[in-house]
Amino acid sequence: MGADQPRSTPAAQASPASGAAASPSAPASAGAPASASAPAALGERSLLANLSGQPRVRSFLTRAVTSGRTGHAYLFVGSPGSGKLDAAYALAQAIVCPNGGCGTCDECRRAAHRAHPDVHYYAPESATGYLVAQVRDLLADVALAPVRAASKVYIVDRCDLLRAASANALLKTLEEPPAGVVFILLGTSADTILPTIVSRCQCVPFRVVPLEEAAHAVHAATGLDDARCRMAVAVAGSPARAAEFLKSSERMEARRVMLRALDGLAYADEADVLGAAKELLAAVKAPLAEVKSTQQAVLDQNADYLSRGALKQLEDRNKRELSARERSGIMEVLASARSLFRDVLLGLEDPHAAPVNGDVPEVVDRLRARASVSGAVAALAAVEACEKRIQRNVTPQLALEVMLFEIRKTLCR
Ligand SMILES: [Zn+2]
Repeated sequence: MGADQPRSTPAAQASPASGAAASPSAPASAGAPASASAPAALGERSLLANLSGQPRVRSFLTRAVTSGRTGHAYLFVGSPGSGKLDAAYALAQAIVCPNGGCGTCDECRRAAHRAHPDVHYYAPESATGYLVAQVRDLLADVALAPVRAASKVYIVDRCDLLRAASANALLKTLEEPPAGVVFILLGTSADTILPTIVSRCQCVPFRVVPLEEAAHAVHAATGLDDARCRMAVAVAGSPARAAEFLKSSERMEARRVMLRALDGLAYADEADVLGAAKELLAAVKAPLAEVKSTQQAVLDQNADYLSRGALKQLEDRNKRELSARERSGIMEVLASARSLFRDVLLGLEDPHAAPVNGDVPEVVDRLRARASVSGAVAALAAVEACEKRIQRNVTPQLALEVMLFEIRKTLCR
Protein backbone atom coordinates (compact mmCIF):
# COMPACT_ATOMS: atom_id res chain seq x y z
CA MET A 1 0.00 0.00 0.00
CA GLY A 2 1.44 3.36 -1.02
CA ALA A 3 1.90 6.10 1.52
CA ASP A 4 0.08 8.56 -0.71
CA GLN A 5 -3.02 6.44 -0.86
CA PRO A 6 -6.07 8.14 0.59
CA ARG A 7 -6.87 6.61 3.95
CA SER A 8 -10.45 7.65 4.10
CA THR A 9 -12.61 6.61 1.18
CA PRO A 10 -16.38 6.34 0.69
CA ALA A 11 -15.88 2.57 0.61
CA ALA A 12 -14.39 2.66 4.09
CA GLN A 13 -17.26 4.73 5.42
CA ALA A 14 -19.77 2.24 4.04
CA SER A 15 -17.91 -0.76 5.48
CA PRO A 16 -19.88 -3.43 7.33
CA ALA A 17 -18.78 -2.10 10.72
CA SER A 18 -20.22 1.38 10.22
CA GLY A 19 -22.48 2.38 13.09
CA ALA A 20 -22.75 1.31 16.69
CA ALA A 21 -24.40 -2.06 16.21
CA ALA A 22 -21.89 -3.45 13.76
CA SER A 23 -19.19 -5.83 14.81
CA PRO A 24 -15.80 -6.79 13.41
CA SER A 25 -17.04 -10.36 13.39
CA ALA A 26 -19.06 -9.51 10.27
CA PRO A 27 -18.01 -11.75 7.40
CA ALA A 28 -15.06 -10.51 5.40
CA SER A 29 -15.96 -9.45 1.90
CA ALA A 30 -12.31 -9.56 0.91
CA GLY A 31 -12.20 -13.20 2.00
CA ALA A 32 -9.22 -12.70 4.28
CA PRO A 33 -8.98 -15.61 6.70
CA ALA A 34 -9.66 -14.77 10.35
CA SER A 35 -6.78 -17.01 11.34
CA ALA A 36 -4.02 -16.40 13.85
CA SER A 37 -1.39 -15.95 11.14
CA ALA A 38 -0.48 -12.49 9.88
CA PRO A 39 -1.32 -11.61 6.29
CA ALA A 40 1.50 -11.14 3.84
CA ALA A 41 1.13 -7.35 3.72
CA LEU A 42 1.86 -6.87 7.43
CA GLY A 43 5.42 -7.44 8.55
CA GLU A 44 6.11 -10.20 11.05
CA ARG A 45 7.10 -7.60 13.61
CA SER A 46 4.14 -5.31 13.07
CA LEU A 47 2.14 -4.58 16.22
CA LEU A 48 -1.11 -5.37 14.43
CA ALA A 49 0.06 -8.81 13.30
CA ASN A 50 1.08 -9.55 16.89
CA LEU A 51 -1.99 -8.17 18.60
CA SER A 52 -2.94 -10.85 21.10
CA GLY A 53 -6.21 -11.39 22.89
CA GLN A 54 -8.47 -9.86 20.22
CA PRO A 55 -8.30 -12.08 17.11
CA ARG A 56 -11.48 -10.67 15.56
CA VAL A 57 -10.38 -7.09 16.03
CA ARG A 58 -6.98 -8.00 14.63
CA SER A 59 -8.38 -9.54 11.45
CA PHE A 60 -10.91 -6.73 11.00
CA LEU A 61 -8.24 -4.02 11.26
CA THR A 62 -5.77 -6.04 9.21
CA ARG A 63 -8.30 -6.33 6.40
CA ALA A 64 -8.91 -2.58 6.49
CA VAL A 65 -5.19 -1.83 6.36
CA THR A 66 -4.18 -4.38 3.74
CA SER A 67 -7.08 -3.47 1.45
CA GLY A 68 -6.21 0.24 1.76
CA ARG A 69 -9.66 1.05 3.12
CA THR A 70 -8.85 2.46 6.52
CA GLY A 71 -11.74 4.51 7.89
CA HIS A 72 -11.34 8.07 9.17
CA ALA A 73 -12.85 7.51 12.62
CA TYR A 74 -12.90 4.39 14.74
CA LEU A 75 -14.48 3.85 18.12
CA PHE A 76 -12.90 1.01 20.09
CA VAL A 77 -15.22 -0.11 22.89
CA GLY A 78 -14.45 -2.66 25.58
CA SER A 79 -13.83 -3.10 29.27
CA PRO A 80 -10.59 -1.90 30.87
CA GLY A 81 -7.85 -4.42 30.18
CA SER A 82 -9.24 -5.54 26.83
CA GLY A 83 -6.25 -4.00 25.06
CA LYS A 84 -7.91 -1.08 23.24
CA LEU A 85 -4.92 1.23 23.59
CA ASP A 86 -2.50 -1.45 22.36
CA ALA A 87 -4.76 -2.02 19.34
CA ALA A 88 -4.97 1.74 18.72
CA TYR A 89 -1.17 2.03 18.58
CA ALA A 90 -1.02 -1.09 16.39
CA LEU A 91 -3.44 0.47 13.89
CA ALA A 92 -1.61 3.81 14.10
CA GLN A 93 1.66 2.05 13.28
CA ALA A 94 0.17 0.47 10.15
CA ILE A 95 -1.22 3.86 9.11
CA VAL A 96 1.98 5.92 9.48
CA CYS A 97 4.24 3.22 7.98
CA PRO A 98 4.90 3.86 4.26
CA ASN A 99 4.74 0.07 3.76
CA GLY A 100 1.44 -0.37 5.58
CA GLY A 101 2.95 -1.75 8.79
CA CYS A 102 6.24 -3.51 8.06
CA GLY A 103 7.15 -3.42 11.76
CA THR A 104 10.82 -2.64 11.10
CA CYS A 105 11.12 0.81 9.48
CA ASP A 106 11.83 3.98 11.43
CA GLU A 107 8.16 5.03 11.36
CA CYS A 108 7.12 1.64 12.74
CA ARG A 109 9.73 1.74 15.48
CA ARG A 110 8.73 5.23 16.57
CA ALA A 111 5.06 4.24 16.61
CA ALA A 112 5.87 1.10 18.62
CA HIS A 113 7.66 3.25 21.21
CA ARG A 114 4.67 5.56 21.24
CA ALA A 115 6.97 8.35 20.15
CA HIS A 116 5.89 9.03 16.57
CA PRO A 117 5.30 12.77 16.05
CA ASP A 118 2.26 12.07 13.87
CA VAL A 119 0.58 9.76 16.35
CA HIS A 120 -1.07 11.86 19.05
CA TYR A 121 -2.53 10.58 22.27
CA TYR A 122 -5.14 12.50 24.24
CA ALA A 123 -6.58 11.72 27.68
CA PRO A 124 -8.86 13.88 29.82
CA GLU A 125 -6.77 16.49 31.63
CA SER A 126 -9.24 17.22 34.35
CA ALA A 127 -10.82 14.77 36.77
CA THR A 128 -14.25 15.50 35.35
CA GLY A 129 -13.38 15.21 31.68
CA TYR A 130 -11.87 16.82 28.63
CA LEU A 131 -11.23 20.53 28.74
CA VAL A 132 -12.45 22.64 25.84
CA ALA A 133 -8.88 23.96 25.65
CA GLN A 134 -7.63 20.42 25.03
CA VAL A 135 -10.01 19.88 22.13
CA ARG A 136 -9.04 23.28 20.69
CA ASP A 137 -5.42 22.17 20.96
CA LEU A 138 -6.25 18.97 19.10
CA LEU A 139 -8.18 20.79 16.36
CA ALA A 140 -5.36 23.28 15.84
CA ASP A 141 -3.00 20.34 15.42
CA VAL A 142 -5.31 18.51 12.99
CA ALA A 143 -5.07 21.52 10.68
CA LEU A 144 -1.28 21.21 10.44
CA ALA A 145 0.54 18.98 7.95
CA PRO A 146 2.04 15.72 9.25
CA VAL A 147 5.64 15.94 10.51
CA ARG A 148 7.07 12.70 9.06
CA ALA A 149 4.37 10.41 7.72
CA ALA A 150 1.73 10.88 5.05
CA SER A 151 -1.03 10.52 7.64
CA LYS A 152 -1.76 11.59 11.19
CA VAL A 153 -3.49 9.58 13.89
CA TYR A 154 -5.31 10.96 16.92
CA ILE A 155 -5.97 8.50 19.73
CA VAL A 156 -8.62 9.92 22.06
CA ASP A 157 -8.85 7.90 25.27
CA ARG A 158 -11.86 7.88 27.61
CA CYS A 159 -14.11 9.45 24.97
CA ASP A 160 -17.03 8.96 27.40
CA LEU A 161 -15.53 12.03 29.08
CA LEU A 162 -16.02 14.15 25.98
CA ARG A 163 -19.06 16.08 27.08
CA ALA A 164 -21.05 19.16 26.12
CA ALA A 165 -18.76 21.88 24.79
CA SER A 166 -15.67 19.68 24.39
CA ALA A 167 -17.66 17.10 22.40
CA ASN A 168 -19.38 19.71 20.25
CA ALA A 169 -16.08 21.27 19.32
CA LEU A 170 -14.90 17.93 17.96
CA LEU A 171 -17.99 16.71 16.09
CA LYS A 172 -17.53 18.48 12.76
CA THR A 173 -13.89 17.43 12.43
CA LEU A 174 -14.75 13.89 13.50
CA GLU A 175 -17.29 13.68 10.71
CA GLU A 176 -15.06 15.10 8.01
CA PRO A 177 -11.43 15.18 9.03
CA PRO A 178 -8.88 16.54 6.55
CA ALA A 179 -7.45 13.90 4.18
CA GLY A 180 -4.93 11.63 5.86
CA VAL A 181 -6.27 12.20 9.40
CA VAL A 182 -7.55 9.18 11.31
CA PHE A 183 -9.27 9.32 14.69
CA ILE A 184 -9.27 6.35 17.07
CA LEU A 185 -11.59 6.94 20.02
CA LEU A 186 -11.52 4.62 23.02
CA GLY A 187 -14.35 3.99 25.48
CA THR A 188 -15.67 1.27 27.76
CA SER A 189 -19.20 1.06 26.36
CA ALA A 190 -21.07 2.75 23.53
CA ASP A 191 -23.91 3.41 26.02
CA THR A 192 -21.82 5.89 27.99
CA ILE A 193 -20.60 7.78 24.91
CA LEU A 194 -22.60 10.60 23.33
CA PRO A 195 -24.65 9.21 20.40
CA THR A 196 -23.46 12.10 18.22
CA ILE A 197 -19.92 10.75 18.64
CA VAL A 198 -20.84 7.07 18.23
CA SER A 199 -22.73 7.70 14.98
CA ARG A 200 -19.68 9.33 13.40
CA CYS A 201 -17.38 6.38 14.01
CA GLN A 202 -16.92 2.79 12.94
CA CYS A 203 -17.57 0.89 16.14
CA VAL A 204 -15.14 -1.92 16.96
CA PRO A 205 -16.15 -3.99 20.02
CA PHE A 206 -13.45 -5.66 22.11
CA ARG A 207 -14.11 -8.87 24.01
CA VAL A 208 -13.30 -9.35 27.68
CA VAL A 209 -9.98 -11.20 27.87
CA PRO A 210 -10.03 -13.95 30.54
CA LEU A 211 -7.40 -13.49 33.27
CA GLU A 212 -5.62 -16.76 32.46
CA GLU A 213 -5.30 -15.86 28.82
CA ALA A 214 -4.05 -12.35 29.59
CA ALA A 215 -1.54 -13.76 32.10
CA HIS A 216 -0.31 -16.15 29.44
CA ALA A 217 0.30 -13.23 27.07
CA VAL A 218 2.26 -11.41 29.81
CA HIS A 219 4.30 -14.54 30.41
CA ALA A 220 5.07 -14.76 26.68
CA ALA A 221 6.20 -11.11 26.71
CA THR A 222 8.22 -11.12 29.94
CA GLY A 223 9.15 -14.74 30.63
CA LEU A 224 8.14 -14.20 34.29
CA ASP A 225 6.32 -16.84 36.33
CA ASP A 226 2.58 -17.29 36.13
CA ALA A 227 1.85 -15.92 39.63
CA ARG A 228 3.50 -12.58 38.86
CA CYS A 229 1.83 -12.33 35.47
CA ARG A 230 -1.64 -12.93 36.94
CA MET A 231 -1.03 -10.35 39.64
CA ALA A 232 0.22 -7.78 37.10
CA VAL A 233 -2.86 -8.21 34.92
CA ALA A 234 -5.10 -7.70 37.97
CA VAL A 235 -3.23 -4.52 38.91
CA ALA A 236 -2.45 -2.96 35.54
CA GLY A 237 -5.20 -4.17 33.20
CA SER A 238 -4.19 -5.15 29.68
CA PRO A 239 -1.31 -7.58 28.99
CA ALA A 240 0.83 -4.77 27.55
CA ARG A 241 0.29 -2.54 30.60
CA ALA A 242 0.92 -5.51 32.87
CA ALA A 243 4.26 -6.19 31.17
CA GLU A 244 5.19 -2.50 31.60
CA PHE A 245 4.18 -2.62 35.25
CA LEU A 246 6.44 -5.63 35.88
CA LYS A 247 9.35 -3.75 34.32
CA SER A 248 8.83 -0.63 36.46
CA SER A 249 10.54 -1.01 39.82
CA GLU A 250 8.85 2.19 41.03
CA ARG A 251 5.33 1.04 40.22
CA MET A 252 6.04 -2.37 41.76
CA GLU A 253 7.34 -0.60 44.86
CA ALA A 254 4.13 1.47 45.09
CA ARG A 255 2.15 -1.78 45.16
CA ARG A 256 4.43 -3.18 47.86
CA VAL A 257 3.87 -0.04 49.98
CA MET A 258 0.10 -0.48 49.57
CA LEU A 259 0.22 -4.16 50.56
CA ARG A 260 2.44 -3.35 53.55
CA ALA A 261 0.02 -0.63 54.68
CA LEU A 262 -2.98 -2.99 54.44
CA ASP A 263 -1.08 -5.81 56.11
CA GLY A 264 -0.22 -3.63 59.10
CA LEU A 265 -3.60 -1.94 59.47
CA ALA A 266 -5.01 -4.24 62.16
CA TYR A 267 -2.29 -3.07 64.55
CA ALA A 268 -2.01 0.50 63.32
CA ASP A 269 -2.81 3.49 65.52
CA GLU A 270 -4.00 6.79 64.12
CA ALA A 271 -0.51 8.13 63.50
CA ASP A 272 0.47 4.91 61.71
CA VAL A 273 -2.51 5.22 59.35
CA LEU A 274 -1.70 8.85 58.55
CA GLY A 275 1.94 7.90 58.01
CA ALA A 276 0.96 5.02 55.72
CA ALA A 277 -1.16 7.32 53.54
CA LYS A 278 1.74 9.74 53.28
CA GLU A 279 4.19 7.00 52.38
CA LEU A 280 1.78 5.62 49.80
CA LEU A 281 1.43 8.98 48.11
CA ALA A 282 5.21 9.45 48.02
CA ALA A 283 5.60 6.03 46.38
CA VAL A 284 2.96 6.88 43.76
CA LYS A 285 4.73 10.17 43.01
CA ALA A 286 8.20 8.62 42.65
CA PRO A 287 7.86 7.78 38.92
CA LEU A 288 6.78 11.39 38.27
CA ALA A 289 10.26 12.79 38.89
CA GLU A 290 11.37 11.71 35.43
CA VAL A 291 8.29 13.23 33.81
CA LYS A 292 8.95 16.48 35.66
CA SER A 293 12.54 16.71 34.51
CA THR A 294 11.54 16.03 30.88
CA GLN A 295 8.91 18.75 31.15
CA GLN A 296 11.47 21.17 32.58
CA ALA A 297 13.93 20.37 29.77
CA VAL A 298 11.28 21.14 27.14
CA LEU A 299 10.40 24.38 28.94
CA ASP A 300 14.07 25.41 29.09
CA GLN A 301 14.55 24.66 25.39
CA ASN A 302 11.58 26.79 24.45
CA ALA A 303 11.98 29.59 26.99
CA ASP A 304 13.79 31.87 24.52
CA TYR A 305 11.39 31.85 21.65
CA LEU A 306 7.95 31.19 23.13
CA SER A 307 5.79 34.13 24.14
CA ARG A 308 4.99 34.53 27.81
CA GLY A 309 1.41 33.45 27.11
CA ALA A 310 2.51 30.32 25.24
CA LEU A 311 4.94 29.43 28.03
CA LYS A 312 2.20 29.83 30.61
CA GLN A 313 -0.01 27.55 28.50
CA LEU A 314 2.76 24.94 28.35
CA GLU A 315 3.27 25.14 32.11
CA ASP A 316 -0.44 24.69 32.74
CA ARG A 317 -0.51 21.70 30.45
CA ASN A 318 2.50 20.20 32.25
CA LYS A 319 0.73 20.63 35.58
CA ARG A 320 -2.38 18.94 34.27
CA GLU A 321 -0.32 16.09 32.83
CA LEU A 322 1.40 15.58 36.18
CA SER A 323 -1.85 15.45 38.11
CA ALA A 324 -3.37 13.06 35.53
CA ARG A 325 -0.35 10.76 35.91
CA GLU A 326 -0.53 10.98 39.68
CA ARG A 327 -4.20 10.04 39.49
CA SER A 328 -3.50 7.00 37.31
CA GLY A 329 -0.73 5.94 39.72
CA ILE A 330 -3.18 6.14 42.61
CA MET A 331 -5.74 4.14 40.62
CA GLU A 332 -3.10 1.49 40.09
CA VAL A 333 -2.30 1.10 43.80
CA LEU A 334 -6.02 1.06 44.50
CA ALA A 335 -6.37 -1.74 41.94
CA SER A 336 -3.74 -3.70 43.86
CA ALA A 337 -5.71 -3.14 47.10
CA ARG A 338 -8.92 -4.27 45.40
CA SER A 339 -7.27 -7.36 44.00
CA LEU A 340 -5.90 -8.23 47.46
CA PHE A 341 -9.31 -7.99 49.14
CA ARG A 342 -10.87 -10.01 46.32
CA ASP A 343 -8.35 -12.72 47.17
CA VAL A 344 -9.26 -12.41 50.86
CA LEU A 345 -12.96 -12.73 50.06
CA LEU A 346 -12.37 -15.63 47.69
CA GLY A 347 -10.22 -17.37 50.30
CA LEU A 348 -12.90 -16.96 52.97
CA GLU A 349 -15.43 -18.58 50.68
CA ASP A 350 -13.15 -21.27 49.30
CA PRO A 351 -9.94 -21.95 51.26
CA HIS A 352 -8.46 -23.86 48.30
CA ALA A 353 -8.91 -21.04 45.79
CA ALA A 354 -5.65 -19.85 44.21
CA PRO A 355 -5.10 -16.14 44.99
CA VAL A 356 -4.31 -13.69 42.19
CA ASN A 357 -1.71 -12.19 44.53
CA GLY A 358 0.10 -15.50 44.58
CA ASP A 359 3.44 -13.76 45.14
CA VAL A 360 2.37 -12.64 48.63
CA PRO A 361 0.35 -15.60 50.00
CA GLU A 362 1.30 -14.73 53.59
CA VAL A 363 -0.31 -11.28 53.32
CA VAL A 364 -3.50 -12.80 51.90
CA ASP A 365 -3.53 -15.40 54.71
CA ARG A 366 -2.99 -12.85 57.48
CA LEU A 367 -5.79 -10.60 56.21
CA ARG A 368 -8.07 -13.58 55.74
CA ALA A 369 -7.48 -14.60 59.34
CA ARG A 370 -8.57 -11.14 60.54
CA ALA A 371 -11.49 -10.43 58.23
CA SER A 372 -15.02 -11.78 57.97
CA VAL A 373 -16.86 -12.05 54.66
CA SER A 374 -18.80 -8.88 55.46
CA GLY A 375 -15.54 -7.21 56.52
CA ALA A 376 -13.86 -8.07 53.21
CA VAL A 377 -16.91 -6.80 51.31
CA ALA A 378 -16.78 -3.55 53.33
CA ALA A 379 -13.06 -3.22 52.61
CA LEU A 380 -13.73 -3.59 48.87
CA ALA A 381 -16.42 -0.93 49.16
CA ALA A 382 -13.94 1.38 50.89
CA VAL A 383 -11.48 0.95 48.00
CA GLU A 384 -14.24 1.69 45.50
CA ALA A 385 -15.32 4.78 47.43
CA CYS A 386 -11.72 5.99 47.36
CA GLU A 387 -11.59 5.56 43.57
CA LYS A 388 -14.71 7.66 43.26
CA ARG A 389 -13.29 10.36 45.54
CA ILE A 390 -10.10 10.52 43.48
CA GLN A 391 -12.18 10.84 40.30
CA ARG A 392 -14.10 13.66 41.94
CA ASN A 393 -10.85 15.48 42.67
CA VAL A 394 -10.73 14.96 46.45
CA THR A 395 -7.17 15.52 47.71
CA PRO A 396 -5.39 12.17 47.23
CA GLN A 397 -3.85 12.20 50.71
CA LEU A 398 -7.25 12.72 52.31
CA ALA A 399 -8.95 10.08 50.14
CA LEU A 400 -6.27 7.52 51.02
CA GLU A 401 -6.46 8.33 54.74
CA VAL A 402 -10.25 7.91 54.76
CA MET A 403 -9.94 4.60 52.92
CA LEU A 404 -7.30 3.21 55.28
CA PHE A 405 -9.35 4.19 58.35
CA GLU A 406 -12.43 2.56 56.84
CA ILE A 407 -10.55 -0.64 56.04
CA ARG A 408 -9.01 -0.70 59.53
CA LYS A 409 -12.53 -0.75 60.99
CA THR A 410 -13.37 -3.84 58.93
CA LEU A 411 -10.34 -5.72 60.28
CA CYS A 412 -10.74 -5.08 64.01
CA ARG A 413 -13.37 -7.54 64.96
ZN1 LIG B 1 7.09 0.23 8.72
